[in-house]
Amino acid sequence: MALASKLDHEGVRVYCICGDGELEEGQVWEAAMTASHYKLDNLCVVVDNNNLQIDGQVDQVMNIYPLDKKFKSFGFEVINIDGHNMNQIINAFNKAKTVKGKPTAIIAKTIKGKGVSFMENVADWHGKAPNEKEYNLAIKELQK
Ligand SMILES: [Mg+2]
Repeated sequence: MALASKLDHEGVRVYCICGDGELEEGQVWEAAMTASHYKLDNLCVVVDNNNLQIDGQVDQVMNIYPLDKKFKSFGFEVINIDGHNMNQIINAFNKAKTVKGKPTAIIAKTIKGKGVSFMENVADWHGKAPNEKEYNLAIKELQK
């Protein structure tokens, strides 16, 4: 989409959100290499870097680190942020818009289930929904 926008001179910015476990897949790095080759400065990748995937910790299933160095080596501008800090998120998106000649990767360090005591950093919550009791407890904790 970012390449098509460039070719058609549409001026569209494309945002792509990737889970960190997803970065174990080769097609992601083929796309990253392509984005850099075509100087897609209209592409902004946001990595949800919670170090968890359905099978457990990303660094134990298939180590993807150091992520910032990997994206830099693929020709990206890299911005590391706290993915729970709204000011850092807004500043990163604003900075990404100013980058010329290369794509940007915003690596957002996050905590899965942040704010819910029984969900924080628990990989089991990667692919299941809470039951009604768990849902009500989670909402109560998030409203504190
Ligand atoms: Mg993850």
